[in-house]
Amino acid sequence: MRSLDRGHLYQACCVLAVLFILMVRSVVADDSRRVLILYGYESGRNDTIGIDAGIRRVLRSEMPDQLEIYSEYLDLQRFPETAQFDREAVYLHDKFAGRQIDLVIAGGSPAIRFLAQHRSLFPKSRLMFSGATESPYIGLLDPKVSGVTNKLDPVPTATLALRLQPDTKRIVVVMGNTPTDKDWQVRARKDLAVFTPRINIEYWIGLSTSDLLRKAAELRQGTIVLYLGFGDSFNALVRQLALAAGVPVYAEFEDYTGLGIVGGSTSTYDEIGRDAGEIAVQILTRHASGIRVTPTSTDIVDWRQLQRWGLDEANLPPGTTVRFRPPSLWEEHKWAVMGAVAALALQAILIAALIVQARRRQRAQAVLELQQQELAHLGRVSLLGELSGAIGHEINNPLTAILSNAQAGKRFLERDPPDTGQAGEIFDDIAADSKRAGNVIQRLRALFKKADAQLEPVDLNGIVAEVLQLADRRLLEDNVSVTTKLASDLPTVRADSVQLKQVLLNLVVNACDAMTENKPGDRSLTIATSCEDKGFAQVSVSDRGSGIAAYVKERLFQPFVTTKSTGTGLGLSICRSIIEAHGGRLSASNNPDSGATFSVALPIGGHRSQTVTLRSEADVRIQTSS
Ligand code: ADP
Repeated sequence: MRSLDRGHLYQACCVLAVLFILMVRSVVADDSRRVLILYGYESGRNDTIGIDAGIRRVLRSEMPDQLEIYSEYLDLQRFPETAQFDREAVYLHDKFAGRQIDLVIAGGSPAIRFLAQHRSLFPKSRLMFSGATESPYIGLLDPKVSGVTNKLDPVPTATLALRLQPDTKRIVVVMGNTPTDKDWQVRARKDLAVFTPRINIEYWIGLSTSDLLRKAAELRQGTIVLYLGFGDSFNALVRQLALAAGVPVYAEFEDYTGLGIVGGSTSTYDEIGRDAGEIAVQILTRHASGIRVTPTSTDIVDWRQLQRWGLDEANLPPGTTVRFRPPSLWEEHKWAVMGAVAALALQAILIAALIVQARRRQRAQAVLELQQQELAHLGRVSLLGELSGAIGHEINNPLTAILSNAQAGKRFLERDPPDTGQAGEIFDDIAADSKRAGNVIQRLRALFKKADAQLEPVDLNGIVAEVLQLADRRLLEDNVSVTTKLASDLPTVRADSVQLKQVLLNLVVNACDAMTENKPGDRSLTIATSCEDKGFAQVSVSDRGSGIAAYVKERLFQPFVTTKSTGTGLGLSICRSIIEAHGGRLSASNNPDSGATFSVALPIGGHRSQTVTLRSEADVRIQTSS
């Protein structure tokens, strides 16, 4: 007995445990809500896809945790027979027998009709509808049933059409002849009356497809087609009509846009779904009832059709949605465009940096040139010291001659009778001497003037002669004999004659310095001109002096390199910079026997050389050879 009791007790505990688990499970299950959306049409249609997406989006965002959504497609338009209604009813009954549906949404008029006939399938469920035109079956569901109604209204679409085509005189309204179409005709005629008599409105009702297409093709400017058809396979008909018609076609439903019509004023399926989803949330959370919403209409046009019919986008009402517009370059290739802009910006920055660098280089170059000019000037001034003796002699000679000639002339004039013949000759001498003194001063001024190089065709032989004149005094004092070997037919070089004289004078003075240790009879200087290098003319200054000291040879042309106790070491560096500025070369080498030779090569340019006649060959003891 006791063991029997224990067994019963054990069994009772097990039963209680199972019941408890089932209770807990049912409490958990009770927490969730189930929504069934019944579409009257088949799946895959634009309207059911759009509405379904809208409903689900709102429900999932407002009630994310406790919701199960089912969608069923009754396919009642393609199978309108009663048997299909019954088949679907059995199917739904069996499928949802074990599940309590909290809310059934009837999507579209056929689904409302189905639900009105089979209300007993979901006796405890709340009902609502979406996307239905005014249907007598709505009242059969429940007079206070909530839902989203499609208000069919041809006026906004006709208004959009007339705005785009203001010269329209006639609207051809194309409608079907099904029972639904007939109701719709009555309302459309009433609504469109607002446009008469300004616009002539003509109704083409229930034409066969071939008649409709033929008649539409004959339509001409001033007329538009307003398609208000229902019925089966209307999408295909709209496409054919829009293609065949001789004038633009307008229509009301969203999914007609894209089939060839210009556009229409319509509520989008997504909007209908969104409104339905919001009503569903109200019903599930607050048990609301009697909510009726009509979604706002939007003007939608097909950009390609605007182009096809030459319709001006500027005439569209503000807020119109323009579909099928090709994406702009920016929209299509955003990253490529950004990359190109970045590359261009980078390029611009690089170019700017290069320009700044080039400007800096130019400025630095200008400063360098200025410094070189000043250095060259300094060099010339240092030569002034060297030449002061020669200058004194050069000017003293004519002044002494002028003085003694003036005294002699005075004496000739004091004679009785005055010797005017002799006096005249003396005055000629005075004039010639003063001219000579003037020339000397003029040349020296040119030499010591600080100025930019003036390149001009220069006769090298003439320059040599002038330099020898300038160095005349120094050559005499040092007892240096000069030999010139001047090439005949020497082409002119492009040079600044003053700077070139400065260079040659410097070389002549250096040659004299190098020969101070030589015996007086062994001091000879040779200046030669030639045109051996292609494109260059040369002048060389050769002496028989000490030669270039080995320890300065490498740095000969660097500034402040000197072997002389009183030297500056600037002469050769200035000379080289002057010659290089001319595009030429200055070089130096020791002669095989004795002394050194300095050579200047300058680019040929300008006219043929002209021979310059020396003022006094005897004075400078020049021996000319060709
Ligand atoms: P400076 O004459 O003031 O010394 P330069 O630049 O004219 O400056 O000359 C630099 C040095 O080059 C001279 O000190 C000398 O040592 C050497 N030099 C120039 N010309 C000759 C020459 N004809 N023969 C030998 N050495 C020379």
